[in-house]
Amino acid sequence: MIGEIYYSRKFLQHKPENYHPENPGRLWILISVIRELRLDDRILEPMPVDESFVKRIHDPTYVEFVKRAVEEGRRYLDPDTYVCPGTWEAALTALGASKLATLAALRYGGLNMALVRPPGHHAGRRGKAMGASTLGFCIFNNIAAAVLALKDEGLEKIVVVDFDAHHGNGTQEIFWHDPDVIHIDLHERDIYPWTGYESEIGGGLAKGSKINIPMPHYSNDSDYIFAWNEIVIPILEEVTPEIVLVSAGFDGFKGDGLTTLKLTEKFFSYAGASLRRYPLGMIFEGGYNVGLKKGFPAFVKGYEEKEARDDGQPSYETLKIVEEVKDILSPWWSF
Ligand SMILES: [Zn+2]
Repeated sequence: MIGEIYYSRKFLQHKPENYHPENPGRLWILISVIRELRLDDRILEPMPVDESFVKRIHDPTYVEFVKRAVEEGRRYLDPDTYVCPGTWEAALTALGASKLATLAALRYGGLNMALVRPPGHHAGRRGKAMGASTLGFCIFNNIAAAVLALKDEGLEKIVVVDFDAHHGNGTQEIFWHDPDVIHIDLHERDIYPWTGYESEIGGGLAKGSKINIPMPHYSNDSDYIFAWNEIVIPILEEVTPEIVLVSAGFDGFKGDGLTTLKLTEKFFSYAGASLRRYPLGMIFEGGYNVGLKKGFPAFVKGYEEKEARDDGQPSYETLKIVEEVKDILSPWWSF
């Protein structure tokens, strides 16, 4: 079942001066897919969160820094990440949409989406996270807003699955010491933001709650489905969460442009189908081109109508990495 879809034209007001891969056209593609799927009657206008909510996710100094940068008419926060007059309202509304889609999933079930920009998973508590060189196009962390919404509803264990091609370093940093946020992240290894290695498992009492699966370059559907079946599904079955939050990036789709991954409809459909037993709060992250046209609808249709079927052989490198991840995490999980 498809639930509510939160989208606002305010997200289009965060726009670059010159060509940039993270531009409003990305959402035009998602909305045209939503129309083709005849889901446009599910679209709702989100309310922005207020500043005090943002300061629960991010350090107040960083929030003030972004606000001032926008007010002063700055164009870039760093070489990757631009701001413009529409950024502040877009970013606060993106947090609001993420919160509302999550609450809808909790109340009514089904797949609920926040089709938002700017994206969020690279934004850490004080901005750039875990030594990353830039914010990677992100301003505020949208999936963290979804997590807080669930905490405010009294949920104890919260699971975030991030399948964007890049590591969700901001999300990992924000919840690094929080044992109640299980963050499972599949991404291409050794690319921006240069984090997300097997050994990163959370700090202190939260050890074992951060699960990183750094996939080899050129990984394909069989590699991803293997890692998904060996690690993501068993953890979900062990936690049995009431709801699953997804940082949904479609930039791992073959030819999307920013990474070497070679995923197709098959993986995204499989991921959707395997999650269909859970209410989902899906927060949009990356995806710049064909991944949005093909990966996004495959995920939605997978959740709606497909049975999960896997086949194909993973590469030797994938087998090795998956074994390594399971080995490191075996004190906390019964793989
Ligand atoms: Zn990405």
